[in-house]
Amino acid sequence: MDPVVNAAHADAERPPLIALRGIRKRYGGTKGRPEVEVLHGIDLDIRQGEFVAIVGTSGSGKSTLMNLLGCLDRPSDGTYRFDGRDVAGFDADELAWLRREAFGFVFQGYHLIATESARENVEVPAIYAGATEAERAERAAALLTRLGLPDKLDHRPNQLSGGQQQRVSIARALMNGGRIILADEPTGALDSKSGAEVMALLRELADAGHTVIVITHDREVAAQARRVIELRDGAIVGDSAPGGADRSSGTTLPPLDMAAADRAGGASFGADLREAARTAWRGMRLNRARTGLTLLGIVIGVASVIVMLAIGEGARQRVVAQMGTMGTAILYLGSSPPKSGGPAGQLTAEDLDAVAELPAIRRVMPVIGDPITVRHGRVDRQVYVFAASEQMPLVHQWRVALGRYYTDAEDRDLAPLVVLGHKAHQHFFPDHPNPLGQQLLIGNSPFEVIGVMAERGTESGAQSYDDMVFIPYRAGRARVYLVQTQPDYVVVEAASSGQVDAAETAMKTVLTARHGREDFAISNAGARLQAEAATRQSMTVMLGLIAAVSLVVGGIGVMNVMLMTVRERTREIGIRMATGARQRDIQRQFMTEAVLLTVTGGGVGVTLGIAIGAALIVAQVPVVLSVGAMLGAFLCAVATGLVFGYMPAKTAARLDPVVALSGEG
Ligand code: ADP
Ligand code: MG
Repeated sequence: MDPVVNAAHADAERPPLIALRGIRKRYGGTKGRPEVEVLHGIDLDIRQGEFVAIVGTSGSGKSTLMNLLGCLDRPSDGTYRFDGRDVAGFDADELAWLRREAFGFVFQGYHLIATESARENVEVPAIYAGATEAERAERAAALLTRLGLPDKLDHRPNQLSGGQQQRVSIARALMNGGRIILADEPTGALDSKSGAEVMALLRELADAGHTVIVITHDREVAAQARRVIELRDGAIVGDSAPGGADRSSGTTLPPLDMAAADRAGGASFGADLREAARTAWRGMRLNRARTGLTLLGIVIGVASVIVMLAIGEGARQRVVAQMGTMGTAILYLGSSPPKSGGPAGQLTAEDLDAVAELPAIRRVMPVIGDPITVRHGRVDRQVYVFAASEQMPLVHQWRVALGRYYTDAEDRDLAPLVVLGHKAHQHFFPDHPNPLGQQLLIGNSPFEVIGVMAERGTESGAQSYDDMVFIPYRAGRARVYLVQTQPDYVVVEAASSGQVDAAETAMKTVLTARHGREDFAISNAGARLQAEAATRQSMTVMLGLIAAVSLVVGGIGVMNVMLMTVRERTREIGIRMATGARQRDIQRQFMTEAVLLTVTGGGVGVTLGIAIGAALIVAQVPVVLSVGAMLGAFLCAVATGLVFGYMPAKTAARLDPVVALSGEG
């Protein structure tokens, strides 16, 4: 059967547009509530283009029947054939398709979305039919103009009279074609004049080929229809034209292509998303205070994740920088009075040789350092003179920028050589970019400049190495530190950072054996720094966790607001479903709202985090802002929206259209 070709001829042979057989509807029967049968076996045929009134007293089951006719609800028993096809086989999406393409609902209470303008209300069904924005706007404006509201396009429902609101809802019913207009007490809330106008409008639509089913308790209203069906206590007790009325008008609308139900597309993803974002944005604006408070949770969460991680990372990097200047395998050895009492020991050259032989130890560097008067020409100042072995650049992981460092042989020869720190070079030789070969008077002895160290920077703590000058250890003892009998301290480098503790133990054993008592002290700088770095690391993790918890709390706030939104907007959800929204359209809308909420919160949070970070940098607190942390926190916020928005969205999508329409979700 080809439904399009030769419609007039085919019409007579076509099955009725709607055919009900033995339809029963029962409520209750669950949760201890007694089961009530509201419709007791309805048989009814309605043909295309009819203008039918279903009349009955209040409680006779009219609305129940209408919900079944409009596929908002399923019968408990009996069959419903739409254009010959049994609707029982339709799934939720196909029913949504049918509502969207075939039906247009007009309710007693208008059921307009209060936050949207007249035009936007009329556009809703077309959104779910996948119409473009331009098509929608144009068609909605045309319909509203046709229904006599050309100047009310941008009015909200509460700015319109009852009759005007009902016209808007009729325009909405016609938006996707409105083959079948289902009007439940359309005049019930209107004064008699507006009521008559609405009925006249419905009659016009019937004349234009629409099938119009009006439900009413008012016999006068019913009398305006061409066929009157009387319902009493859930059964049909009268039908002025059983099997279908003659249609006085010859006009017919093209029949619906039922096969399309199987490939019911619905709104395109992009259009849907834009629509959802627009609705969400409007909802957020209308509830500014609540939105602000919810956002605050996310904003604080995101900003604190960023700031906490930045502070933690700043602290960690400072420690790492300290470790970097000395390495992690460094021990300090010095003489010290034993705990048991008595004088401090003497660290001899033989002691140091014995320590250097230990397998866990790589380098041993004795150091003597003191502020000494150093002179060049007329420049004369107190400088820290660092006397150490030729291993100093290796131990300090430091580079010579100019010239060279002294050698072990030169140290043994007591060669009077000096290497300058970066700033010391500038102090004594401001006019010599290359001071090599110049003389420096340290104490009373002349030393020859053979090198300049690279700039060290300020990271190394209180004492700036850049200010110092460096001389060989033995030459220092022989020419400058004449009264010194042993090194101030000895820097000992373990073979690796993993062997620091072994090196400490071995060194203690050897020296205790040589001295007969523990008249020396070892400080394990590497272990201390490593421990500190580990502490900082765990502090960072902890700060991050605390911040993450606040993000979760923010997420719960989002969920709370979304659940409230779903509650407040049950009727809107019902309207959207009645006009053809599928479950997934509703779900997507609420998910989008949740995500938009958290994306906004995340964006503000990142901005705030950066601002706080910048303020801390200005306040000289060491912070390291990382793009990774920002991105991570932002994505966490969005994920929070997805996770915590899912449940409310699911709740919304699962609402029964009839229940939602009654606003009792
Ligand atoms: P009408 O629209 O003709 O006034 P309804 O179809 O709304 O009548 O209701 C018919 C009967 O079904 C009433 O007695 C009403 O109490 C009952 N009813 C309607 N909806 C429900 C429901 N969801 N649960 C239980 N009973 C219901
Ligand atoms: Mg009713």
